[in-house]
Amino acid sequence: MAFENSHQFAKSLDRQDSLKSFRSKFHIPPVKGKPSLYFTGNSLGLQPKSTKRFVTEELDDWAQLGVEGHVHSRRPWMYHHKLTKKYLAAVVGAKPGEVVAMNQLTVNLHLMLVSFFKPTPQRYKILTESGAFSSDQYAFESQLKFHGLDPNDALIELSPRAGEFALRTEDILSAIETHGQELALVIFGGVQYYTGQFFDIAGITKAAKKVGATVGFDLAHAVGNVPLSLHKHDVDFAVWCSYKYLNAGPGAIAGAFVHERHAKSFDGPRFAGWWGHVEKERFQMRKGFKPMEGIDGWQLSNIPILQSAALLVSLEIFNEAGMKAVRVKSILLTSYLEFLLKDIDPDGKYFTIITPSAIEARGAQLSLLMLRDGKKIFNALTKAGAIVDWREPNVIRLAPAPLYNSFDDVYQLGLLFKKALK
Ligand SMILES: *Cc1c(COP(=O)(O)O)cnc(C)c1O
Repeated sequence: MAFENSHQFAKSLDRQDSLKSFRSKFHIPPVKGKPSLYFTGNSLGLQPKSTKRFVTEELDDWAQLGVEGHVHSRRPWMYHHKLTKKYLAAVVGAKPGEVVAMNQLTVNLHLMLVSFFKPTPQRYKILTESGAFSSDQYAFESQLKFHGLDPNDALIELSPRAGEFALRTEDILSAIETHGQELALVIFGGVQYYTGQFFDIAGITKAAKKVGATVGFDLAHAVGNVPLSLHKHDVDFAVWCSYKYLNAGPGAIAGAFVHERHAKSFDGPRFAGWWGHVEKERFQMRKGFKPMEGIDGWQLSNIPILQSAALLVSLEIFNEAGMKAVRVKSILLTSYLEFLLKDIDPDGKYFTIITPSAIEARGAQLSLLMLRDGKKIFNALTKAGAIVDWREPNVIRLAPAPLYNSFDDVYQLGLLFKKALK
């Protein structure tokens, strides 16, 4: 599409937007009495207006029923974790039995590593991207130490080529092949939190399988953002949080995926809790853990109901919109933002966009490496009512979220950028 840097053009894109009605389902945080230009849905997604009702219904049921609510509330708490399964499955491209909402992201990452990182004397290394999110780095480091391994030796972190900002898929695949026999686990972010690079999940998985390694993905920035086909692509496991693009609220309940191939792998290592025990015997409270089939067998605890209610609301919105439509708008919104930024700084004097320009290699995020006046520009944007994200030492991240950001938002942000560069 030939874009134009004009208000009229942005407005015409909004008129043609099949998801335009979704914006009104969300609270847009005000700045100085006006709706902000909210571009941090990759950090904390906005609150659906219906969240309060759903959470309040659970509070009411608790008030009215007490413990009876486990069975007699409108969404019985005993089975609450089942309500989100089919929606989660649709968002990550899985079968309902392969996904569950539980715990927090880093907890789930540890649970998965306990079961799927099984080093042997020959095959003991983890291969991942350099500059992974800190929590993931700490998880890898501590898991390696837990197995008596030295992270300096056993953790392989791939960096982009000199002068480049994203990893080339060919370089990832050849590194997997080179290290093949020593790799126990290949694990990447789905979308890299800093650069916004959307990794080739199918390609990485295939290459890792070929050398006999297990494959996992941290989908924190990918879930609800880009199309995923975890089942079809044969990924072994994946984890994610739900407060970024999924809009389930601060500290929301996270999720995990285990491929059905492992549904009955009961003999390997796993850390167990009563909620993973076969459902019909769970309340017999007897000795001897018997895991449920599939991901359900990795659950530890009964689900936090208020959080589960907030997740359910946000997933119902995704279900109504459909990930396909979300992606179509996402591509257009992000491309329009890219067009405007390049129009404003045509010679790249102020910033370099380090997010890949290829549509299949990114989601709803552009990361700008600021070459001069970065913090000043960020402060000017913030003062003018834009909520954007600053990452040390000099990156501004902008995430136009298709469910609630409009093309007009993107245009207005462009105007603020132009002013800030002057
Ligand atoms: C946001 C994010 C986290 C945060 O971890 P929590 O356990 O949810 O606090 C971890 N890893 C990645 C890649 C993230 O993007």
